[in-house]
Amino acid sequence: MSRPRRGLFIGRLFGIRFYLDYSWFVIAAIVTYTLASKFFPVVLPNESHAVYLAMGVFAALLFFASILLHELGHSIISQRCGIPVPRITLLFIGGIAEISREPDDPKSELKIAIAGPAVSAVLVVIYELLAIAFGAAHIRPAALIFSWLASVNLALIIFNAIPGYPLDGGRVLRALLWARSGNLRRATFITSRIGVGMSWVLMLLGVVALFNREWNAFVLFLIGIFLKSAAESGYMQAIYHEVLAGIRVRDVMTPNPISIPSHMPVNLVVDEIFLTNHHTAFPVCDDDGSFRGLLRIEHLKDLPREKWPFTSAGDLVAERGAAALSTAADESAARAMRRLLATDQGRLAVLDGEKLAGIITRHDILQFIKIHTELEDAQ
Ligand SMILES: [Zn+2]
Repeated sequence: MSRPRRGLFIGRLFGIRFYLDYSWFVIAAIVTYTLASKFFPVVLPNESHAVYLAMGVFAALLFFASILLHELGHSIISQRCGIPVPRITLLFIGGIAEISREPDDPKSELKIAIAGPAVSAVLVVIYELLAIAFGAAHIRPAALIFSWLASVNLALIIFNAIPGYPLDGGRVLRALLWARSGNLRRATFITSRIGVGMSWVLMLLGVVALFNREWNAFVLFLIGIFLKSAAESGYMQAIYHEVLAGIRVRDVMTPNPISIPSHMPVNLVVDEIFLTNHHTAFPVCDDDGSFRGLLRIEHLKDLPREKWPFTSAGDLVAERGAAALSTAADESAARAMRRLLATDQGRLAVLDGEKLAGIITRHDILQFIKIHTELEDAQ
């Protein structure tokens, strides 16, 4: 399971936070370089390097703006269907809108999927008209830039028509399968498999291009990697939404875990708890069951061995702020899972008020999902 990628925060628009994926810079540089050194010198000979570079930067920026508009198309329709879009991560060749939840029905899904390519289609027409106008006015550089923009936006529509989730074509196919079967998870499963398959094809094409010493090898490869992780995490998200809907931490947790008395010195904690039970963290509690903190094996490593007999488990967790490594029993399981994935912590203590109620691990949630999806598929 992959964690969602972060990227660089660039700003807010319509309440949506925009991020640039780190691959953006690499691809932006390759596209600008290719335009300025290979494409424009061929179609427009006898100009200076500065002119080619300016044309390359301008064309690349407008292409990026086109992608931003494409993603805004998806997002605005999504918000109109009542589904907030908290963030969009932009790649150079596209973007991934993080929807807060799945659409309510296949019709909304279809509308959201088509909105992006619809915006791109309008842009193709506008750029083409501008190219014709500048051509008629004999302003060759501008005419070439806009005709290039028209063709790359057309290519973007064609690429996005691939029926692999989470590409637009994949979302259209998902909406159609969903409408037919009524099973969103199954529809997501099928289309995300196609998405992963396509990502391998792209990476393979990248390798072939590399052997032919073509610059776009890296672009193909990066798109392939991104598509693969997006397809996989898209499916996991669909599962979370469906299987974990309405499920609380208390439904998934392991109740009555082994706990460490807060007054126990660390040397005894190591011998009697860590070395005899095979976990990497244990909750520390007072005699009345009040939770003090989650003692992780790293906390022990940081404390010099000669201090072990003179430090109590309660003091150690207080010093490390380990009381924060907990979640409420009534918290939603999906939210707990996001925390478990995001913070790289395998487990959290579960609290009922002040008292320890259980332990929840990534494994608990994955197991819960596995059992529920397999039972459903068996029916
Ligand atoms: Zn799109």
